[in-house]
Amino acid sequence: MTVARVIVDVPSRDTDRTFDYLIPDRLKGWVEVGSRVAVPFGPRKLQGIVTGLAEDAEVEYSKMKPIEDLLDAIPPLSAELVELGEWISKRWLCPLTVALQAMLPAALKGRSEKYVFPAAGADWSEEETAQSGGLLLALKKGKPLKLTGLLQQYPEQGPLLKRWLRQGRLEERQRIEDQLSVKTVQTVFPEEPAALLEGLEGIPARANKQREALRYLAENNEPIAVLKLTEVLSTTSSTIRSLADRGLIEIRAVTEDRDPYANREFPASLPMVLTPKQTIALAPIQSALDAGRCETFLLHGVTGSGKTEVYLQAIQRCLEFGREAIVLVPEIALTPQMVERFKSRFGARVAVLHSRLSQGERYDEWRKIREGRAQVAVGARSAIFAPFSSIGLIVIDEEHETSYKQEESPKYHARDVAVERARLHGAVVVLGSATPALETYEAAKYDGSETALAGMKYIALPERVANRPLPGVEIVDMREELKLGNRAMFSRPLADAIRDRLAKKEQIVLLLNRRGYATFVMCRSCGYTAACPHCEISLTYHRGSQNLRCHYCGYSEIEPKTCPSCESPHIRFFGTGTQKVEESLAETFPGIRVIRMDVDTTTEKGSHEKWLTEFRERRADVLLGTQMVAKGLDFPYVTLVGVLAADAALRLPDFRASERTFQLLTQVAGRAGRHELPGEVIIQTYDPEHESITSVQGHDYNGFVERALILRKQLGYPPYGRLISVTFSHESVPMLLSIGERFAIGMRELAASLGIRKDFDAGGLAALEILGPVSSPIARLKDRYRFQCMVKYRGEVDASSLTSKVLEEMGDAVKRSGVQISVDVDPQMML
Ligand code: ADP
Ligand code: ZN
Ligand code: ZN
Repeated sequence: MTVARVIVDVPSRDTDRTFDYLIPDRLKGWVEVGSRVAVPFGPRKLQGIVTGLAEDAEVEYSKMKPIEDLLDAIPPLSAELVELGEWISKRWLCPLTVALQAMLPAALKGRSEKYVFPAAGADWSEEETAQSGGLLLALKKGKPLKLTGLLQQYPEQGPLLKRWLRQGRLEERQRIEDQLSVKTVQTVFPEEPAALLEGLEGIPARANKQREALRYLAENNEPIAVLKLTEVLSTTSSTIRSLADRGLIEIRAVTEDRDPYANREFPASLPMVLTPKQTIALAPIQSALDAGRCETFLLHGVTGSGKTEVYLQAIQRCLEFGREAIVLVPEIALTPQMVERFKSRFGARVAVLHSRLSQGERYDEWRKIREGRAQVAVGARSAIFAPFSSIGLIVIDEEHETSYKQEESPKYHARDVAVERARLHGAVVVLGSATPALETYEAAKYDGSETALAGMKYIALPERVANRPLPGVEIVDMREELKLGNRAMFSRPLADAIRDRLAKKEQIVLLLNRRGYATFVMCRSCGYTAACPHCEISLTYHRGSQNLRCHYCGYSEIEPKTCPSCESPHIRFFGTGTQKVEESLAETFPGIRVIRMDVDTTTEKGSHEKWLTEFRERRADVLLGTQMVAKGLDFPYVTLVGVLAADAALRLPDFRASERTFQLLTQVAGRAGRHELPGEVIIQTYDPEHESITSVQGHDYNGFVERALILRKQLGYPPYGRLISVTFSHESVPMLLSIGERFAIGMRELAASLGIRKDFDAGGLAALEILGPVSSPIARLKDRYRFQCMVKYRGEVDASSLTSKVLEEMGDAVKRSGVQISVDVDPQMML
């Protein structure tokens, strides 16, 4: 007896194990690992995913219930993805169902019933039709039929059904979804020619057009879109409808693949002749692909060094071996410009997955991948789960981007998932960036990393293509501007440069680095900002209590009225928005044409693309925006990049703040002078000596990173240590503190009992330290207070297991208290 092991979709600790169900006869051969099923669960009916099959299981029939229904004919997950899900749930400490659900396209999460339809454009030979014993005819009649119904009605045709579903000739659709968002085409399905000719006799002679249509359909006896038919015959749709009324044809809505890029033309591009540097960079990747070696590379290339062309040629190679490729790019870099580079090289073999597509569009792209119609998937974070079966290459562009880490559960990092998935497929991973994350760089250069990335190969592309120079970078000290009486948003050098570009009809990108605004206190006279004396981290201003606090160790001090450094009264916390900058631009430079791109102006679908096209066509002088304008854009007429408030993100209470600032500034600087015209970058700051900023001026990634790594080592932060943050939330602070304390003490005791040192300073020995509980940077959320503990560890310490062990032991107490706990393994955001 075969039994299915099912993970039910209830994300709780209690249900985070498999439950066994019988596979009823009618579903034999259909239920597989990765199938989605409906099962009885106590009094409820739940959805679940099959994660295992136990052949010849001994079963107590009276106790075990059967699976009630199969929700999709073809399992949405493969055995490999289920295995990957298991790995994710262990790695990031989340219930398995949460990891599995994250891999499903949203369209497959609903509970609505699904029906089997013939796919648009699919056809069958007469032999096949006969073989199907009425099944095909029933389907072609267009009555919605559920898979289970079909299996009951045509019990012999199971294998045939399955084959055609796998081939994509039949497909499953949710009817509700069909009505809402699937693109449908009204299509004529004619009867057999003989029947049509017979029908001719019943049609009055004056109904010329109807007769003509019948003859046409008898001759061209296949489905045709109503619109097309009216065009061909130059008649009206009412003519066609009269034929339907006579029962000679049938008109049905047929679903069509919604290709979001259907209306765009992608001129074919041929592989470029690589520069000598690119050739050297590609060589080790290619030889790993050729040998089928599972290897990870860091491709460290300055902006404009031609990394994308290296990816493209590596993908080409991978495809030649009949294997598939996944390319991850940050969501905001998924502009038509980026997509175009892949589409124009690989055409219809590319599927694009990103959040601006509708649910239906995304589902169609996903099916292209699963059915083998696409071999390259380009997408944001979750495209790492693209349902390929033989992956040869995974590319992650801008690998340092924070958006590769999901902030809600499962809190996975796509980079780590990529490495694991590549291991399962024996594939090559290429991580590309001009400013690699410190973790990645360390792992590739020195192999001293504590992170999962150890053992990577390093490839450098240190120069731009065609010897184009990197842009000159000027740093403007805004304190000096203030001294000279300039209180405007734009320094004189930036204002002059803007005027100059306007006169030359060149273009400008302005970045307002706004993250972290209004939470830090800064002196406008000297640039002083308050930092924690113990942690190298800015203090966060709390409006309620009017004090400044460190979110790592809990240190606090009262808000200063004058600057502790220069005694100036101009100490205050900061805040300005893109809208204000836009107004100020209009006032200062009359007639200037500005495109503002921020969360407010890009919520509408397609707006992002619209703005960029407008800018590319030079219908605007300035592209002003937040982080979004920094990534992946390549415009030949951009010769000036200005950065307002470069230091804003430096003040975030995060040990990665300076790394992030450096990365962002380098990225945005890289937008200037990418083509023939040379570029210039002007950075406005109150902190002109800060390394994150001075290193951008010298394009000195290596110098910056080497110094930053020394600091990380001293503090035991990644990559020389790892972190798990545990956040507790509750309406009452005392309850929260008591649970938090209990966790901290539990961890310390457990670690001590295992002989793990808590002393992080002594050399590189294995150690585990618990910081907190302290109030979280976001101290209250939705009326719940938040406290957090940070588990900091290194060496041979399985801190994840220790953490879940302690939390499990506290389980009952936690349940009674009502405290919610969320765990973030390798957190990327400290907020
Ligand atoms: P990156 O991704 O490293 O920022 P790109 O791939 O965007 O760099 O390349 C920068 C520019 O150089 C692009 O306009 C690209 O078309 C061009 N380019 C890249 N490789 C070559 C090559 N081998 N020959 C000529 N031009 C190239
Ligand atoms: Zn501190
Ligand atoms: Zn001061």
